[in-house]
Amino acid sequence: MGQVKLIVSNWKMNLDGKQATRLINNLLKLEKSYPNFKNIVCPQFMLIPLVSKMLKKNNIFIGSQDCHFLNDGAYTGDTSLKLLKENNCKYVIVGHSERRQYHQETDSIVRKKVEHILSNNLKPIVCVGESLNKRKSKKYEDFLKKQLENCIPGNQNHIIIAYEPVWSIGTGLVPTFSEINEIYNLTKFFLKKTKNIKDFHFLYGGSVNSKNFKEILDNTHVDGALIGGSSLNFIEMKKILTNC
Ligand code: PEP
Repeated sequence: MGQVKLIVSNWKMNLDGKQATRLINNLLKLEKSYPNFKNIVCPQFMLIPLVSKMLKKNNIFIGSQDCHFLNDGAYTGDTSLKLLKENNCKYVIVGHSERRQYHQETDSIVRKKVEHILSNNLKPIVCVGESLNKRKSKKYEDFLKKQLENCIPGNQNHIIIAYEPVWSIGTGLVPTFSEINEIYNLTKFFLKKTKNIKDFHFLYGGSVNSKNFKEILDNTHVDGALIGGSSLNFIEMKKILTNC
């Protein structure tokens, strides 16, 4: 629904310092060639200070892949929003299916993180998406409504929803345009009716690449994409950012 489209790179647990430096340096050369996109890069925690320094005075934004929902405390291995803010993070991905699967992150934890991020004036990118079983058994609509119901607080207008069907992440399988639009409409009506949310960004994520991105953008209501694998490859990102 927003004007400027968001391209969010989810680097996951990839790239070392040298590789990240090379990729950012390349992306910086393109900086002025995609006026219709906001480019947001989400590195793993240990890369954030490095990337943050490189992106000091330009138009690429930094996000993180997660955060804790409390300011500080005895939470070994977690990272606070305070430090992410100190390192210029403006966006935080929450509820990614890999966090849900490997870190047992529940909807109620996701909700606490979303509230914490919003109260710190950062923007949450909230991932929702059904498994292949849920899709096949036609229970995906109820499942997605439940995720939205549980994870999204009411009366907020700075939420970014990333629809990432689990069966599409890293598999090369992409839903049809009408399947993406169906979920966009479901999200729009559900958030308006139950949460009084009229303005939100809706991203699609799952096997986006330079070959399918423009078509997805032209044929659906998405406001951009959350990109995993392809975001590690500069040639792919160049095509994605400049071919639309
Ligand atoms: C993701 O995991 O957020 C993602 C979109 O991955 P990929 O693009 O590799 O499917």
